Amino acid sequence: MKKSSSRARRRRTEALPAKVISQATAFHGHLGPWLVLGLKAGSYARKKLAASPFDLRARVFCPAGTPYTCFVDGVQFSSGCTMGKGNIVHRRAKGCRVEFTRARDGVHHKDTKSQRGTDRMLRLALRSEVWDELHSGPDEGMAGAARLGREFSRRSLEELFTA
Ligand SMILES: [Zn+2]
Repeated sequence: MKKSSSRARRRRTEALPAKVISQATAFHGHLGPWLVLGLKAGSYARKKLAASPFDLRARVFCPAGTPYTCFVDGVQFSSGCTMGKGNIVHRRAKGCRVEFTRARDGVHHKDTKSQRGTDRMLRLALRSEVWDELHSGPDEGMAGAARLGREFSRRSLEELFTA
């Protein structure tokens, strides 16, 4: 068996499955780094706080308008906190961060049986160096955004966010 470093192994296990990326891309309309950041954050929240989207609430803080709000769609898709269920809100802010809380009694469908994590709250803030990276360099259009999105999907959560 080929040996791999623990870092490479960690990165691989945290990489988003290709199916998640393709389904989220279909949902959102295009692939880009902001969407992927939301996907990473939301899927981590499901793992860490609650397996059921009925047990989660999300508050997303980022500037109004695209590309920042593409992050909101990523969070919706992966966390299951959606506009329709009313368990996600967006607040205008500088920078980009998200707060997830595990709802005490569930969002609705109170009889939903679900697996719950031990933590009640999770805060993830985009690392300033990642913010800077996203605001440097030329705009390479949709193709560049898709390339960067795929690249971000392979990064570990810690490389992208501070907890
Ligand atoms: Zn977008």
